[in-house]
Amino acid sequence: MGAATHVGRVRRVNEDSFLARDRLAVVADGMGGHACGDRASAHTVDEFAGLLDRGPLRVELIQGAIAAANNAILSDAASDAERAGMGTTVTGVASVEHDGAPHWLVFNLGDSRVYRITGTTAVQLTVDHSEVAEMIALGQITRDEARRHPMRNIVTRSLGVDPLAPADMWLFPPSPDGDSFLACSDGLTNELTDEVIGAILGGAPTARDAAAALVAAAVDAGGRDNVTAVVVRTPHDSVATVDEVDVNTTPRGSYR
Ligand code: CA
Repeated sequence: MGAATHVGRVRRVNEDSFLARDRLAVVADGMGGHACGDRASAHTVDEFAGLLDRGPLRVELIQGAIAAANNAILSDAASDAERAGMGTTVTGVASVEHDGAPHWLVFNLGDSRVYRITGTTAVQLTVDHSEVAEMIALGQITRDEARRHPMRNIVTRSLGVDPLAPADMWLFPPSPDGDSFLACSDGLTNELTDEVIGAILGGAPTARDAAAALVAAAVDAGGRDNVTAVVVRTPHDSVATVDEVDVNTTPRGSYR
């Protein structure tokens, strides 16, 4: 797993927070007046970090961390008038135990995203909870126009709003060929197209290199917002590794 974050070229405070440890990748993009968004996103990552010392992850534990983060943000906001209205997105991918077998759990609330990477192709798994996503669904604007739209920062679901809107969840088994995911804030996806994101991920030798290259490219492209990327890569299983060795073996008789 590899992660990188950058304040960008415009903002003074980095309100994004992330977790990239063991079986858990989380990105939270904080928002709110008086630069309290960083508190909201930090509360969220703290709740998820608390799961890592409790044995196998399960769907209910992820749901519990989301609810606990919401409560922590609401009570912190209630304790100080300057913190009122702070909130955060949350998205991520966790390796969970479900029905006695390992599964990937992708979760999302807001407009941060999780992509699945195959080769140099990045496919968005999450659905954005945002005004521009609804305009795209209605055919009013294109995906490219959304990246530049003045309302691109308006989310329709987030943490820190009472009552808590449900998070989307996707549960699926790991691929025997290995899996690769990107979790990121909208500061990345508003600067880089899915095609560019896929090309950078496909060309990077390690998850850490990929995360650093993605964030650097988004800052180079404008850096209008905080930028965060967490890249998860799991190896092929043993069968797939044997296949790969066969494919890469130089065919006999190819020399002169
Ligand atoms: Ca953002």
